Amino acid sequence: MLEKRDFYINGQWVAPQNGTDHHVIDPSTEEPTAVISLGGAEDTEAAIAAAKAAFPAWMATPVAERIALVEKLISVYEARAEDLAGAMSAEMGAPIDMSRSQQVGAGTWHLRNFIDAAKGFDFDHALGDHAPNDRIIHEPVGVAALITPWNWPMNQITLKVGAAAIAGCTMILKPSEESPLNAVIFAEMMHEAGFPSGVFNMLNGDGPGVGTTLSGHPDVDMVSFTGSSRAGRLISKNAAETLKRVHLELGGKGANLIFEDADEKAVKRGVLHIMNNTGQSCNAPSRMLVQRSKYDAAVQEAAEVAGKVTVGPASKEGRHIGPVVNEVQWNKIQDLIQKGIDEGARLVAGGTGRPDGFNKGFYVRPTVFADVNNDMTIAREEIFGPVLSIIPFDTEEEAVKIANDTPYGLTNYVQTQDGARLNRMAMQLRSGMVEMNGTSRAAGSPFGGMKQSGNGREGGIWGIEDFLEVKSVSGWSTD
Ligand code: NAD
Repeated sequence: MLEKRDFYINGQWVAPQNGTDHHVIDPSTEEPTAVISLGGAEDTEAAIAAAKAAFPAWMATPVAERIALVEKLISVYEARAEDLAGAMSAEMGAPIDMSRSQQVGAGTWHLRNFIDAAKGFDFDHALGDHAPNDRIIHEPVGVAALITPWNWPMNQITLKVGAAAIAGCTMILKPSEESPLNAVIFAEMMHEAGFPSGVFNMLNGDGPGVGTTLSGHPDVDMVSFTGSSRAGRLISKNAAETLKRVHLELGGKGANLIFEDADEKAVKRGVLHIMNNTGQSCNAPSRMLVQRSKYDAAVQEAAEVAGKVTVGPASKEGRHIGPVVNEVQWNKIQDLIQKGIDEGARLVAGGTGRPDGFNKGFYVRPTVFADVNNDMTIAREEIFGPVLSIIPFDTEEEAVKIANDTPYGLTNYVQTQDGARLNRMAMQLRSGMVEMNGTSRAAGSPFGGMKQSGNGREGGIWGIEDFLEVKSVSGWSTD
């Protein structure tokens, strides 16, 4: 079994001072695949001290040099793509082909977009022609704690590290204890790319331990967190004592509005989207809202499409979906499917238990419920599994009302051929992102939510700005 107990602190791999062993479980087999160490207070203090010491020099490093290091990082990243794909596949269950293309691919995409955004951004400029001696300076926030989840590990890590590095922040990354192995490889890559000692530090740990020390520490200037709303609340409360900046990227309960004039692939696209990554995406379109005239046909089609989604081990090549990440998630999803049945939703595909042919591994049956109403538990709670809820609606107003009737506000989706309606929906849906007719958001667009989905924006220039302070200076000498 792989042993990866050491932490990357101040440019070196160091043994934990007060860590405890933790097994990383392969969700396809339920067998341990590696042992890591969960750090303790002294390990966390050492990482924070290294980041604090490295900050002044890193802040003073010209942006062009910081960008050049991120460019170097991309070439190292590409060279180690297969290692990353294998690690994520084994630790969080992404099927290997999907891990290569989507999980690894997301990282290259974000890093490139940051470089493009930074090259076009003026970090230091006059306030305006009316005030040539007023200077606006965008400078780094300081020491940033980066706390990431297991579902899109490299996506999250690159979104935070790429932006923080270009902004000039020094960092302590605490990846999810469920998916630490890709982060260990990432730390090796940061070292190989040549980031100065202490700029980037990585230690493993859990929320109550390392996570809590980071969020409450007076020498940590900001926390950038992606994960559950539950942990987001705890971090916000703990960070309040030191009034540090807290950026949150939390859960979602996205609605996918399918109007009667939607294109013929809309239903299939919606089902496959929720199944992708075994439903473990914060922006998953987990509530499919279908206009009444199209409803029966859509339910039938959704059941057929879900019935053809195959499930299999992460190590196998192909287009199947893998297991969910761990036993806790598996049990939670089973409970929610049972709740859907008990509360009167109509099960049209999948259901509780493992798919046929599996008696081990955290596999879930691709599941579709019809006749869901928005008060049912399956329509309110983030399931984080391959489970779709279909809800009928009659009018556009009703569709918007149902879509917005959730504490979350991350991504909503709209399917219609009516251009005026598309734009009306984009204006009325209360979410940080609206994706229409299957069009992906372009390079450099911001990712983030409203309401209880969080308050940060990641990606492109907005992602970099999250790690910057705006300093306003008067009396600037232009001599
Ligand atoms: P989680 O909140 O349990 O854990 C996320 C990270 O937070 C882990 O590193 C964990 O160790 C740490 N953590 C947990 N409790 C903490 C605490 N009290 N203090 C500090 N750190 C703590 O979430 P998860 O189960 O790993 O991830 C799934 C969740 O993440 C889902 O709700 C999903 O929607 C959300 N998510 C959101 C986005 C987004 O950008 N909005 C992206 C991916 C995932």
